[in-house]
Amino acid sequence: MGDEALALAPGGLLIDGRWRSAEAGGTFDVHDPSTAEVVGQAADGGIPDALAAVEAADRAGPGWAATAPRKRAETLRRAFTLMTERADLLARLIVIENGKALRDAHAEVAYAAEFFRWYAEEAVRAEGSLTTAPGGGNRIMVLHQPVGVCVLVTPWNFPAAMATRKIGPALAAGCSVVLKPASDTPLTALAIGAILADAGVPAGVVNVVPSRRSGPVVSAMLHDRRVRKLSFTGSTEVGRVLLREAADQVVNTSMELGGNAPFLVLDDADLDAAVAGAMVAKMRNGGEACTAANRFYLHRSVADEFSRRLAEAMGRLVVGPGLDPATEVGPLVNEPAVAKVDELVAGAVDQGARVLTGGLRPRGRGWYYPPTVLADVPPSAAILAEEIFGPVAPLVVFDDVDEAVALANDTEYGLVSYVYTRDLARGLRVSEALESGMVGLNRGVVSDPAAPFGGVKQSGLGREGGHDGLLDYLESKYIAVQW
Ligand code: NAD
Repeated sequence: MGDEALALAPGGLLIDGRWRSAEAGGTFDVHDPSTAEVVGQAADGGIPDALAAVEAADRAGPGWAATAPRKRAETLRRAFTLMTERADLLARLIVIENGKALRDAHAEVAYAAEFFRWYAEEAVRAEGSLTTAPGGGNRIMVLHQPVGVCVLVTPWNFPAAMATRKIGPALAAGCSVVLKPASDTPLTALAIGAILADAGVPAGVVNVVPSRRSGPVVSAMLHDRRVRKLSFTGSTEVGRVLLREAADQVVNTSMELGGNAPFLVLDDADLDAAVAGAMVAKMRNGGEACTAANRFYLHRSVADEFSRRLAEAMGRLVVGPGLDPATEVGPLVNEPAVAKVDELVAGAVDQGARVLTGGLRPRGRGWYYPPTVLADVPPSAAILAEEIFGPVAPLVVFDDVDEAVALANDTEYGLVSYVYTRDLARGLRVSEALESGMVGLNRGVVSDPAAPFGGVKQSGLGREGGHDGLLDYLESKYIAVQW
C-alpha cells in the first residue's frame, strides 16, 4: 500500500486521449495476492464507456492508418524506450496486483517491451506482391490494409505482455484499439496506456477500458458495426463464447486460448538439461502460464532419476511475497485459483498419485500453493486433462515413444509441447507428430516476440509475434490490374 509503483497507473479509463471516470461512476477493488488486501481501485467501465471508446477509436483510425509507417514505427520505438525506463516500477506494479515473483515480473516487462520494439521494426514491412496472372492477361496485385477498430481482451497472467503483444502489431499495422484488461490486473494495462500516450500515440488510437462486467461490455462492442476485429487471450471456455458473439457481425478473430502442454523426456535425454528445462517450462510465472508444462511423460529408463531430481529442485524453491527479492515463487492470483489447484491435486492423490514434494495448501493469509510433484498419476486423473495453472507437476511413465506421442496428443488443446532427446532427428520427427502450434525441442521456453506464437485445435486461431503477428491485423486486398 502506498507503493510508488501504483502512481504509474492513472485513475480512470483512457478514452479519446483523456483519463475519465466511468459514466456510471463506479470503481472496483484490486487485491494484492500475497495478503488478499485491497491495494487499489480501477474505474469500472460500462457499456456506454466501451462504446465511447469504440467511437474514439473509429474517429482516430483513418488518421493513424494514413500516418507514415516510419512515423508509426518511431512512436512504437518511443513506447519501447519509455517502458524500459519504467521497467522497475512497472515490474513492481505487476507484482502488486498479480502476485508473481519480482524476477518473473522483470522478465515479463522485458518481454512485453520487446513487442513494441519488434513491431516498430515490422511496421515498415507490410509488403504486398505483384505477379502475372497464370493466363497472362493481367497482373495480380496484393496489398495489405489495416483491419480497422480492434477490441483486445487480455488475461491476468501476463498483464503487460499480453497487452503489448496485441497493441504492438495493431498499431504497426495502422489499426486503432480498445483494450479490455482482466479485472484482476487492470492497473498494469492503465500504466501501458499511459506509456503509449506519453510516447505520442494520438488521442483515440489506444483506449483502455477496465470493467468488472466483461461479458456485456465486450458483447456490446462486438455488436457495434464499427468494430472489425477481436483479439482475445484467455481460457478456451471464454474463447468459445466470444467466437459465438463475434459470429453475429462476422468480426475477424484471433484467439490465444488455453493449453495442456505435454513434456516428453525420451530415454536418451540429457537429464541435466531436461530437469533445468522442466523447471522453466513448469515454473516460469509460478506455473500460471498457458505454455506451462501440464503433464510430464517420462521414459521408464529415466523416470526414477528425473522424478527425484525434479522433486528436489521443486522442493528447494523459495515461496513468498512477490516483492521480496529472495522469492522464487509468489502466490497464485486469487482464491479460486488456489482452490482449483488444490482440488486437482486432491483428486489425483485420491486416485493413487504419490506426492513427492508439496501437495499441502498452507494456512495463513495470501493465496499460496507450494511447488508440488506427483508421481504415478493415473491416466484418468483430471489433473492430466485440465489446465492446472499452478506449481504442480504430474508425472506419468511410458515405455514406447509412439505411446508417449499418442498420450500427448490425447487432448482438445494444442498450444505447445516439449521434447527432450539427444537425437535431433528423432526429436524433429516427434516434434512433427505432436499436435501443437509450438514445440520446445530441448528447450523449456518457446515465447519470443520474433516467433509466431499460437495454438492448434482448441488452443486457438491465428498467431501473435513474428511477421505473422502483423498479418493478423491486416486484410489482403487483391487488385486485378490490366495495363
Ligand atoms: P479468462 O478467459 O477467464 O479471461 C480472459 C479475459 O476475458 C479477461 O479479460 C476476462 O475479464 C475476460 N472475460 C471473461 N469472461 C468474459 C466474457 N463472458 N465475455 C468477454 N470477456 C470475458 O482467462 P484468465 O483466467 O484471465 O487467463 C487464464 C487463461 O488464459 C488460461 O486458460 C490460459 O491458458 C489463457 N492464456 C492463453 C495464452 C495464449 O497465448 N494462448 C496466454 C495467456 C493466457
